[in-house]
Amino acid sequence: MSKKKEIEKVEELIEKVDTYIDSKESLELLRKTYDFAYAKHKGQYRKSGEEYIIHPLNVAYILTDIYADIPTIQAALMHDVLEDCDCTNKEMEEHFGKEVTMLVQGVTKLSKINFSTENEYLIEYYKKIIVGISEDVRVIIIKLADRLHNMRTLWALPEAKQKIKAKESMEILAPIAHHLGIHKIKSELEDLSLRYLKPDVFYDIAEKLNLSKLERDKTVLEMQKIVSSLLTEHNIHHEIKGRAKSIYSIYNKLNKGRKFSDIYDLHALRILVEKEQECYVALGIIHSKFRPLPNRFKDYVAMPKPNMYQSLHTTVFGLDGYLFEIQIRTHEMDEIAENGIASHWAYKENKDAKANMQSTTEQKLQFFKSIMDLSSDKLSSEEFVNSVKDEVLNDNIYVFTPKGDIIELPKGSTPIDFAYKVHTKVGETMIGAIVNNSIVSLDYELQNNDIVKINTNKASTPSKEWISIAKTTHTKNKIRSFFAKNEKEIYIERGKDSLEKELRKKKIVFNEFLSDKNIEEICKEIKVKSLDEIYLNIGNGKHAPSTIINIIIKEERKAPKVSKIGSQNIDANADIIVSGIDQVRVNLAQCCNPVFGDDIIGYITMGNGITVHRSNCHNLVSLEERNVEVTWNENKNKRYLTCLIIHTTETEDHMLDIVQKANILDIPVDSIHTMSKVGGAIYELKVYVRNLEHLNKLLIEFNKQPYIEKVERIQR
Ligand code: MN
Repeated sequence: MSKKKEIEKVEELIEKVDTYIDSKESLELLRKTYDFAYAKHKGQYRKSGEEYIIHPLNVAYILTDIYADIPTIQAALMHDVLEDCDCTNKEMEEHFGKEVTMLVQGVTKLSKINFSTENEYLIEYYKKIIVGISEDVRVIIIKLADRLHNMRTLWALPEAKQKIKAKESMEILAPIAHHLGIHKIKSELEDLSLRYLKPDVFYDIAEKLNLSKLERDKTVLEMQKIVSSLLTEHNIHHEIKGRAKSIYSIYNKLNKGRKFSDIYDLHALRILVEKEQECYVALGIIHSKFRPLPNRFKDYVAMPKPNMYQSLHTTVFGLDGYLFEIQIRTHEMDEIAENGIASHWAYKENKDAKANMQSTTEQKLQFFKSIMDLSSDKLSSEEFVNSVKDEVLNDNIYVFTPKGDIIELPKGSTPIDFAYKVHTKVGETMIGAIVNNSIVSLDYELQNNDIVKINTNKASTPSKEWISIAKTTHTKNKIRSFFAKNEKEIYIERGKDSLEKELRKKKIVFNEFLSDKNIEEICKEIKVKSLDEIYLNIGNGKHAPSTIINIIIKEERKAPKVSKIGSQNIDANADIIVSGIDQVRVNLAQCCNPVFGDDIIGYITMGNGITVHRSNCHNLVSLEERNVEVTWNENKNKRYLTCLIIHTTETEDHMLDIVQKANILDIPVDSIHTMSKVGGAIYELKVYVRNLEHLNKLLIEFNKQPYIEKVERIQR
């Protein structure tokens, strides 16, 4: 790690900007911005004891390393002014205009996140970063520089805070820097995070690097000379750099099982040439003199990485038998490798760097698209955070379309994920996949560099099994939504039906119950927008009909409400929570077989604890004093046995098909019997389901079969 310079005076910043921006006016503007920020922060100090202004000044200075434009540097100087000082948007806009103010607002929004749980915090953080990227990617670049400077001065914070910041930098900000291609910032963030997360490891590696440095430097220098004169002989203009490995990258290799000595013995060179073609010429010259290690050559020039990285990589047996990792690239490629998305700033001829950066972000960076896809899926906070971590920020594989386009996918992806990533329509009509010229099964795990061809058929539709085969949440959701579209109407009808029945039972007039006012109140309570959505939520088992009715007719509830926090000694493994009583024996009634999600009532038996019935079970003796309010205790691993009667229109045997339909939905069959074969056949089917929603899926599947006349849940 090279020593990073901390500056104290605005003159140093201006001097640096002057090296790449040729405009006296702009430099004056920077000074004016600094004076404004200085006045606003006057009297504020950081934990380290310095004047506060030192922080924004150095954030701005970091940005000059990647040749940031003037508005970005101005925004960096003022990035904490809106939040921490007495300054309004309007005042800033009057002084410095809309563009700069918008940038500062963007950064301010990102810092204002306060949520109690880690998950809530993370989801808000990600969402804001996504919004930031889509509005103006410069906001995120400023945020990265802000974090980098905070990490450089992290020593001033208490240890617990250090760990939190370091973890967040490692897990979120460094991966984002990586996907934006800003290698400089990424690498320093990783090293600093490691230093606080695993100080022992960090200092151990740093020390070993130092010890071997002298000897390594000598060998690298000699090799450099030989290669350089070789290239000069062939008239190739070039520049050669030795390159330092980051401590974090060494830590990573050690973690993957490589030996210390293997890593330290590896020497590294980087050769910069003028033209793309010369990369290959230089490679040929080097290979003709030094024997390459088999299978280590990589051509990222012809096939750039999704974050735009381009370079040739080879490893050769070099001087004294040492292995040398050599990278060959043009100056332009080097700029992109170091600064990624920010490299647009470096080209003077680039008139509209800002617009170009934004469109590159959106077009080229698949990572950006993946996050956008996920954010448009309706995921819970936890699902969203986990998918972003596993599927977007983690290690990815790169595979090819038959035309040679690169598709980036999370490790473990299948041809189904590939097909949906190419296009939803391709996914929905796929019938098979060919990988590297061989037919593969749909659960084949794609490997780096696979060439994947998807066979489609316009008439074909997805299969439900795919949901469990696909790797990414996004693909799973696409498949689910295909089925949801078709099932939605069935659910709505079913929901309306059950509500009607329940109202009839309670002797409530349907039309009176569904007055506009009542509908509005129910919508508000269960957070939906229309009557159809109310039906949908009943139909898919999310809410029991009686729950909906109780929203309006509250006095029906006689038993006290169960308060989860208030009742003590709740057995987490129990199926049922009984209001006001713990440690009581609870049985699920065998007559109506309630499953999780059913509306239920407890019945106090003589000497046999409480039996739980579905609330519409006709065996429930209506002795009010014997009834007790009970609620389900969610237990994800639990299965509930329930019994169905299936009426078919044919006497032909359909048992096998019925069992298969259940299996596809991951519903184990306990037993199936033929009860009658007069007219059509009638079967009694006992199955284990997870909950009401799971059961409803099976009912819908059965209702789709032409030979099935009707299906009933049994009540004896
Ligand atoms: Mn800051």
